[in-house]
Amino acid sequence: MNPDISNKARETSAESNNSLDALAAALFRPMGVDGVYARTPLYEEVIDRLTAFISRHRESGTEILRFPPVMSRHQLEKSGYLKSFPNLLACVCALHGTEAEIRTAADRHEAGGDWTTSLAPADLVLSPAACYPIYPLAAARGAVPTGGLRFDVACDCFRREPSKHLDRLQSFRMREYVCIGSPQEVLDFRERWMKRAQHLADDLELSYRVDTASDPFFGRTGQVMAISQLQASLKFELLVPVRSAEQPTACMSFNYHQDHFGTTWGLRNAAGDVSHTGCVAFGMDRLAVALFAKHGLELRKWPAAARNALALG
Ligand code: 5GP
Ligand code: ZN
Repeated sequence: MNPDISNKARETSAESNNSLDALAAALFRPMGVDGVYARTPLYEEVIDRLTAFISRHRESGTEILRFPPVMSRHQLEKSGYLKSFPNLLACVCALHGTEAEIRTAADRHEAGGDWTTSLAPADLVLSPAACYPIYPLAAARGAVPTGGLRFDVACDCFRREPSKHLDRLQSFRMREYVCIGSPQEVLDFRERWMKRAQHLADDLELSYRVDTASDPFFGRTGQVMAISQLQASLKFELLVPVRSAEQPTACMSFNYHQDHFGTTWGLRNAAGDVSHTGCVAFGMDRLAVALFAKHGLELRKWPAAARNALALG
């Protein structure tokens, strides 16, 4: 390897890390755990404006639902999450039992011991993505109508992957548009959104490229799942060079689940055909960090197109 090039690469990545450190100081406050941060008003202003920007592009006939940060453990188990990403999942646990049992466990902590050995799993998990709850909810309404269904969903998501990188949070916000319908309806939906998302990124004056992608499936069998996902072009991502050009950050994803959720939840049209599903996910925190990384900390100095898109006056 040419030593000049490798030194240059190290310098560039050190510089970008320094500037990300400066961003972190202005945008976040520590909460004692990597990847879990308090957010400053400056940061939240951009999140709010991005949220409104994405809402302005919502397709007509889209039903809006906002989910809490937790969801039914049973529903996520049934969705197959443990087959694919068991390492990322966090389950709500609580002290159950009689008053005496709960008091004993809590007192163990006060005495310097470990109260967590008495924890038992509750019927909740922390939602790892915003769209999981929508499929059982839609299925409970009966047949999927001709033309399909579209939803706008969002929630705070949790994935157990502690990191010091600003673009890898454990607790982050995800917004999604979801389509349930025939294979063609879902593919058309994804195609429309892949085009529209690039216009959105252009308006925000972000650098990006769109590429096929795979999810970080767990373990050795996961590698096989990732390859077949890539081969079938089931996932695309909009990648933004936040930390470096070599390792760009996925700020949006465009997913085609085929009949996975349709079969799992019995989503069918009136003729009995299993529905297909797809979603476009916006990583709100990654988009906000990407904007600050590209345009700096002074909103009034952001380029005109981005200011206009975000109604910054
Ligand atoms: P996916 O389900 O495709 O993995 O995630 C959807 C979107 O959520 C990603 O494109 C990304 O923008 C956002 N996201 C996923 N993981 C993280 C993370 O660790 N931190 C942050 N801030 N956003 C994430
Ligand atoms: Zn989704």
